[in-house]
Amino acid sequence: MSQSSGRVVIVGGGVIGIACAYYLAHSGWSVTLVERDEIGMGCSHANCGLVCPSHVLPLAEPGVAWKTLTTVFRRDSPLSIALRFDPGLWGWLLQFARRCNPAAMTEAGRACQALLESSRQLYGELVHRESLDCEWETRGLLFVFESDHEMAAYAHTDALLRTSFNLPATRYDRDALIDLEPALKPGLAGGWHYATDAHLRPDKLLSSWRRVVEARGVTIREHCAVHGFAREGDAARAVQTSAGELVADAVVVATGAWTPQFRRPLGGRIPIQPGKGYSITMPRPAQCPAIPLLFPERRVVVTPMQSGYRLGSIMEFAGYDATMNRRRLDLLKAGASRYLREPYGDAVDEEWFGWRPMTYDGKPIIDRSPAMRNVYIAAGHNMLGLSMAPATGKLIAELLSGTTLHVDPAPYSLARF
Ligand SMILES: Cc1cc2nc3c(=O)[nH]c(=O)nc-3n(C[C@H](O)[C@H](O)[C@H](O)COP(=O)(O)OP(=O)(O)OC[C@H]3O[C@@H](n4cnc5c(N)ncnc54)[C@H](O)[C@@H]3O)c2cc1C
Repeated sequence: MSQSSGRVVIVGGGVIGIACAYYLAHSGWSVTLVERDEIGMGCSHANCGLVCPSHVLPLAEPGVAWKTLTTVFRRDSPLSIALRFDPGLWGWLLQFARRCNPAAMTEAGRACQALLESSRQLYGELVHRESLDCEWETRGLLFVFESDHEMAAYAHTDALLRTSFNLPATRYDRDALIDLEPALKPGLAGGWHYATDAHLRPDKLLSSWRRVVEARGVTIREHCAVHGFAREGDAARAVQTSAGELVADAVVVATGAWTPQFRRPLGGRIPIQPGKGYSITMPRPAQCPAIPLLFPERRVVVTPMQSGYRLGSIMEFAGYDATMNRRRLDLLKAGASRYLREPYGDAVDEEWFGWRPMTYDGKPIIDRSPAMRNVYIAAGHNMLGLSMAPATGKLIAELLSGTTLHVDPAPYSLARF
């Protein structure tokens, strides 16, 4: 039996699990994908749908720790931390604060860029080769600023992205911005357009990609929760599920924000915190933007999809608190109202929240478990899981199959924690 003809069980049916299933099936593995709920109903469901190589910089930027401290307890802050006894969260925040320096930011940026650029290219190929029905569009992403001060300050970030990451943006001041995107209100300071970015409708991507992997022979088991691993020596022999054991030659754990549940059997520290974000999906307004928009001053993203229109973002560190906080949804609307002529309508298709799998250094974990030599982890993709999924899936398939690696996995190792 060649290494790439065994049975692999993937735990977790989000965008990362589906991408792993696709590339592993492509490499000749017999794949079973196990999901405790339904495919694509976790954080991958109604996110903002941006495939954004422009987002190389992690949340932990110089000055962010201090800025966060001064705003984070405000009720109208787009970034909030619940005040409660949670040693795991406070330890995570301390490590996050330590990473808010130029060297750590650049290191994380380079690590993320490898996955972002590879994924952007792979999506371009995949969407056409597999006829993925996901409303794929390549209109770039426009960062828009209300204040002259913030617009000018962004010039430093632009210079950094241009020189250190070869990511040039086109600058549009005042009227030129409105000429580019007439759905914006007049009087805004300006914007920066990243032409390389793309966007899609995430729920449609997941259902379409699911059909593709099923046609490739992947078995999907929904409403089947994994609660452990049956071991034989230093390897996993089977995955233990609510529907019995699934025998496996290899296992991939792709459980997003829930990955710390397997901390003990996986044998390493898995410092992933759930970073709760929200979105509101609506019918397209009459004056719908053509280009996806990001308002960094309010941390609001606007995604015009072919079949709808979405406002999203917010970052709430409150554990796995499952309440739909209406104040957060209102913040999205209030933020969009400052920039758009027609920010939202009365009809709502879906109000949603999801838990982003946040690591304190902004890099995902793509590595073998230190406790079981045939178990791999693909989790912790922070705010960019959709954008990094194809390269993650491809890298996992290469690691399991022992073939040439298209991206260096060293920055994503568990040993860094
Ligand atoms: C508001 C918002 C906007 C975002 N916008 C973007 C964006 O524009 N672009 C981008 O790239 N990213 C974006 N993200 C981030 C992106 O959504 C996540 O990084 C990504 O969805 C993570 O994918 P995942 O497959 O790791 O996790 P998930 O999609 O959460 O999948 C994990 C799955 O594992 C399952 N699971 C957990 N435990 C078990 C178990 N024991 N047994 C079986 N199954 C289990 C869960 O049910 C879940 O389905 C956004 C996130 C939010 C919240």
